[in-house]
Amino acid sequence: MVGDLAIGGGSPVSVQSMTSTDTADVFATTAQIRRLEAAGCDVVRVAVPDQKAAAAIRAIRDRIRIPLIADIHFQHTLAIASMENGADAIRINPGNLGGEEKTRRVVEAARHHRVPIRVGVNSGSIEKDLLAKYGYPNADDSSALIESALRSVRLVEKYGWDQIKISIKSADVLTTVNSYRQLAAATDYPLHIGVTEAGGLIAGTVKSSVALGMLLGEGIGDTLRVSLTRDPVDEVRVGFELLRALRLREHGPELISCPTCGRTRIDLFALAEEVERIVQTMTSPLKVAVMGCPVNGPGEAKQADIGIAGGRGQGLIFKKGEVWKRVPEEQLLAEFTTELRRMDSEFRSD
Ligand code: SF4
Repeated sequence: MVGDLAIGGGSPVSVQSMTSTDTADVFATTAQIRRLEAAGCDVVRVAVPDQKAAAAIRAIRDRIRIPLIADIHFQHTLAIASMENGADAIRINPGNLGGEEKTRRVVEAARHHRVPIRVGVNSGSIEKDLLAKYGYPNADDSSALIESALRSVRLVEKYGWDQIKISIKSADVLTTVNSYRQLAAATDYPLHIGVTEAGGLIAGTVKSSVALGMLLGEGIGDTLRVSLTRDPVDEVRVGFELLRALRLREHGPELISCPTCGRTRIDLFALAEEVERIVQTMTSPLKVAVMGCPVNGPGEAKQADIGIAGGRGQGLIFKKGEVWKRVPEEQLLAEFTTELRRMDSEFRSD
């Protein structure tokens, strides 16, 4: 359990993100977390680079609903301070905490506060003896990374704590996939999956979708983060689309829109963007279509619970492929939005 969120053991795959604000800035960090909550984010991680950030956790924690994970590197005292200030979990790499004694103190504090630990290891902190034995991890063999992660896990277990999840970092898609396959075969602990430093919206979404799609398709992964060089809210949106595509979880309406072609008579890109903005505030699993022409649109989007098809001067609102209403172009979006909101609230009150 991370706060009140179950991870692993058959629980739904949870979607995480990480704030990009200065954690010590309580106002900015809280505001960003609230936007993440509105997007459906299940659990948020904040960087704790200094004592000011660790101290801010208490005030942030009091102002948000979702569990908070403190991300610690190098200084074990920051991990202890974060837990004292109410962090629901910590993320550490025992390999960079400065020795076993410091890890012991962190684990004992975690036990005391009943705070789970995410053991996150990366290729940069693999012990020399493992590198000598297995070589640097690559897409074919990640034994050094796996062994390093398991060594860290055993260290946490040695001091009496087993509330653990594991992540291993790689920016390469195939190395990520093969590493997690090896790791899943070697342990029953829940796994946090993700491709690190994946890139901007397009590259990051593609890399994450390929890697996480392959893993989740094989039943590997209990919680995920899609890392993007973007507003973290986009990470959550991509995460949910990924889970929806795999039919693992749904969050809010599914938007279907046509790519447009020579028959398109309205500014469909702007319309689709506007509808996307509107559905983001909804929670029902409606299928919503935005199509470029009234001739083929309703038929091509038959599976949609409600759709809009733009024409010259007037457009259509359709339901399950049948025309529901013809509306002058200037009223199309407003009429559509009213009906969509009505259907969304009807669904929620059912
Ligand atoms: Fe073209 Fe109409 Fe199909 Fe859109 S719905 S791709 S505009 S034919």
